[in-house]
Amino acid sequence: MMSLRLPSIDGVLRHPACVPLLERHGRDSLLAGLRQLLDELRPNVLNGQLSAVEISPEVLAGRVGERLAQQQRSRVRRVFNLTGTVLHTNLGRALLPDEAIEAVHMAARYPLNLEFDLASGKRGDRDDLIEGLIRELTGAEAVTVVNNNAAAVLLTLNSLGARKEGIISRGELIEIGGAFRIPDIMARAGVRLHEVGTTNRTHARDYEAAISPRSGLIMRVHASNYSIEGFTARVPTAELAELAHRHGLPLLEDLGSGSLLDLTRWGLPAEPTVRQALLDGADIVTFSGDKLLGGPQAGLIVGRKELIAKIKKNPLKRALRVDKLTLAALEAVLGLYRDPDRLAERLPSLRLLTRPQADIYGQALRLQPLMAELLGESWQVSAVEALGMIGSGSQPVARLPSAALCFRPQVSKRLRGRYLLNLEAALRALPIPVLGRIDDDALWLDLRQLDDEPAWLGQLPHLQVDP
Ligand SMILES: *Cc1c(COP(=O)(O)O)cnc(C)c1O
Repeated sequence: MMSLRLPSIDGVLRHPACVPLLERHGRDSLLAGLRQLLDELRPNVLNGQLSAVEISPEVLAGRVGERLAQQQRSRVRRVFNLTGTVLHTNLGRALLPDEAIEAVHMAARYPLNLEFDLASGKRGDRDDLIEGLIRELTGAEAVTVVNNNAAAVLLTLNSLGARKEGIISRGELIEIGGAFRIPDIMARAGVRLHEVGTTNRTHARDYEAAISPRSGLIMRVHASNYSIEGFTARVPTAELAELAHRHGLPLLEDLGSGSLLDLTRWGLPAEPTVRQALLDGADIVTFSGDKLLGGPQAGLIVGRKELIAKIKKNPLKRALRVDKLTLAALEAVLGLYRDPDRLAERLPSLRLLTRPQADIYGQALRLQPLMAELLGESWQVSAVEALGMIGSGSQPVARLPSAALCFRPQVSKRLRGRYLLNLEAALRALPIPVLGRIDDDALWLDLRQLDDEPAWLGQLPHLQVDP
């Protein structure tokens, strides 16, 4: 038997198939890729496991080309979020409106007046760019913006309560996904936790009994991702604010999602608004930019002027500040709130949250035959009504009436799990990965967020499901 020999690196490089690769990836990358491939193949050639064709310069060049293209592909990928959770933290939360995308584009491309007052020609403050709008939309006296709401809470606690006690109800000592836990944040902020009441019931007298010369602030946290039902008691914000002020303490309210407008006008579950929390007497309110607000990731701190001034003087503010792209996007999003009547058409997250169930169901009915035909006999595909959720800690128990495509494997119980996982993996492997959820022996694609139907249809021919 004649023994084969791998071509030399130069031998492969000279092949015409390498010309476009050289052009696209550069000589260094191509050489490194070739060297690695040849090293991997060498043992198999010695064992006689490869044919002459498999080690021809043309085939080797093709393989290196595929690898380099794979390496060059961005790790940041667009996906279809068909999980049923609209503001999904793992999938990037709110989608920006065109106005904000244009503002980001401008801010990325040109110098701008980030910290420069064009009227006076003097140094400015980046918070000034959005302060007027936020004051108008919330009624707050003053505003500052940081990287996210976790940063807003950390900075506020540290600025107003360091080395003192922070009084908070045991029912509000929550953990939010991604290891944000109120007791830990308090500790890191240098505030000593003084928990009062019980998990389900906390009264005004519990707060009152905890107040001492060591007290620095009273804190209230939106329960966000859980709900306590049944025998419960909670002190209304107005009463808690009155109690705090009587003892000369500030009341902080971490609203989490914090809506700027009453969502019930669009038929959505009620969520406390920032304006109402301030009207009730909260001295500082913190909330996220990319949850219900529908903007970029940011943490907004609004409230009393002298407290905001203190927060802005904290050196931590510099470490937690927002960048110009975020501010540009935030200003554009806030601008849309000045015209609430058109907000639901212009703000993508609100448009998706308010999409009528009948509309989504109609889409499911339209796509069902197509998917049934594509998947063949081993799957039952149906258009069904479904329940989604807002996500990101807004109304954890409220459900959004929606519609879904439901895929049930028509195979023995023993094989069902594998079929479901294979379909789930095949959807994830599409050029624009499709993410749904597996539940009750079926795979569900909630169509509320399928607004780019052409892109969806265009990639279906790539769907390859292993049996
Ligand atoms: C979501 C949330 C946070 C954290 O906000 P991020 O913007 O994700 O940092 C803090 N507190 C509450 C109550 C929340 O719901």
